[in-house]
This record gives sequence, C-alpha cells and structure tokens, in this order.
Amino acid sequence: RAKQLGKNNVQLFSNALSGKPTDHYELEADMRKALINNEFEVYYQPRVCTNTGKILSAEALIRWNHPELGFLPPIEFIPLAEENGLISEIGDWVAKTVCIQLKAWQGEQLQVVPISINISAQGFLRNDVISRFQSLLDETNIDPHLLEIEITESSYMFNMEKVVQDLAELRKMGIKVALDDFGTGFSSLTQLKELKIDTLKIDRSFIKHIAEKKQDEVITSGIIELAHGLDIQVVAEGVETKEQLTLLRAKNCDQIQGYLFSKPIREAEFRSLLEKGFIQH
Ligand code: C2E
Ligand code: MG
Ligand code: MG
Ligand code: MG
Repeated sequence: RAKQLGKNNVQLFSNALSGKPTDHYELEADMRKALINNEFEVYYQPRVCTNTGKILSAEALIRWNHPELGFLPPIEFIPLAEENGLISEIGDWVAKTVCIQLKAWQGEQLQVVPISINISAQGFLRNDVISRFQSLLDETNIDPHLLEIEITESSYMFNMEKVVQDLAELRKMGIKVALDDFGTGFSSLTQLKELKIDTLKIDRSFIKHIAEKKQDEVITSGIIELAHGLDIQVVAEGVETKEQLTLLRAKNCDQIQGYLFSKPIREAEFRSLLEKGFIQH
C-alpha cells in the first residue's frame, strides 16, 4: 500500500496544488470527517546523533490521506485548521496516536526513543493545556520523558507569562520542551533564558546555505554555543548534504534532522529503523 500511495503521490499532489483552489468550506467539512474516518496519519522523522548516527528521537509529522485529493502535506490543511479551530482536536489526535504508538513499540520490546509533537500556538494558549496533557498521560500510561512538545515563537509572543508558567508545569510533569524553527521571526536571546527549554531546533533556513554563506555559518555557531552555555541541546533542521553535516559536526551540534539521514516516514518504516537503532548514510 505504501508503494501504491507513493506512486500516486506525485499526481494527486499536483492536483491538490495546481488544480482549482479547494473550497475552504468543503475542506473544513472534510477535516471533521477525516478525524472520524481515520484519514490522518502520523509520519516520523528521526533525529540522530551528529557523530554516530544513533537515533535519539523522532518528530511526529501529520499527513492527510484525503479520499479525493490524495496525500496532503500539513501546509495544505494545518493553517486552515488553525483558522477554524479544529487544530485543537487534530493536536489531541496526534498526541494520543503518538502515545498509543509508543506503548505498542514498548510492548514489542523495541528500544523506543522520545517523540516530539508540534503544538500550534492556539493549542498551546488554551487554558486547559496542562490538564489535557495530564489526562493523556494518565489514560495512556506512558513515561512522560518519552514526550517532547515543539512550540514556535508564535506560541509565546502574545502571552509570555502564561507560556513560561505552562512550560514549567509541563517540565515538572516530565515532558520535554523544544523551541522549533529557532532564528526565524523575532525570537530573541532573552526569551531563551526565560523559556527554560530542553531543546533548540535551528531553522532550516540557516542550515540551507551554511556551507556557502559565511553569515549563516557564523549565526549557527553562535546559536550552538549560546544554547550549550544554557544547557540546551541543539538540533539542526533540514540537513541535506554531507557538507552541512561535516560543518555541524565541527561546531558540536548535538543532533541532526534532515533528508540526509531520513525523510519523514510511515510508522512501519520507522519501526525497522528503530530496530537497527542507527542510520548510516
Ligand atoms: P516543522 O515542525 O518545522 O517540521 C519540519 C518540516 O521540515 C517537516 O515538513 C519536514 O518534512 C521538513 N524537513 C525535514 N528535513 C528536511 C530537509 O532536509 N529538507 C527539507 N526541504 N525539508 C525537511 P512537513 O512535515 O511538511 O511539516 C511542515 C510543518 O507543518 C511543520 O514544520 C509544522 O510546523 C507543521 N506540522 C506538521 N505536523 C503537525 C502537527 O501534528 N501539528 C501541528 N500543529 N503542526 C504540524
Ligand atoms: Mg517541528
Ligand atoms: Mg521546524
Ligand atoms: Mg516549521
């Protein structure tokens, strides 16, 4: 089935992208049905140790197998879900799916790694964000250390105080916190100090030209040093070339996430990577 889907991807994908703009109302109604009909799927992209290629973690990334439009990447529906509020339900579904998956892997005696999930600003600014995570942990009975949430700057821009409090609470519960897409927007170094995070993910846009643009290289070095000074682990996003990897190794970047090691993959494929524990490239 994966192969078949893979073959169809290109065609369906271009239909979705270049066909007439999909009616938002229709897509919204479809989205509600999608939750009931199990059309969403979680893909996993490994995060590996920069020096050894050992799989240390993975990011959960949602996809939608739409019955007519085919395979939809998050960019085609997450912004709409953020507008219409469905993002909360979708976020809950992703978090629960990941927990159930972790439990299943553990049941099969696999050496599991922590999984990070993306939380949209709306999802994070809800009043009940803490109690929702608490009930998820109670319900699924997984070790909170196996969960990491990824937030972006848009989550704390408007209500820094609440976010600082909630993050502290989540970390007390044992859930880890990553700051995603770091370096884009207005994220500042002062905020790093206040937010008390475990992981910092350097945005792909810096990594992309790290081998050619001196400025990007210098900025990346600075971010890594600063993070390490604050006891924060650093992940480079979007690493695609050996050259980028070599540079990031020299700079002591802790973890790599990118196509060089693996694209986001379906659960079955990720499971076989977990069995090996390492990715060679
Ligand atoms: P993100 O959280 O920054 O996720 C990383 C994105 O970079 C993923 O795109 C991933 O496929 C892509 N990527 C990773 N390595 C490479 C690389 O080497 N080269 C290139 N060109 N791209 C790479 P994806 O899966 O399309 O997701 C896009 C965004 O959608 C995510 O960015 C995240 O903001 C959002 N998203 C995905 N899943 C969820 C979810 O479950 N909930 C929420 N709220 N947002 C999600
Ligand atoms: Mg992310
Ligand atoms: Mg990111
Ligand atoms: Mg992003």
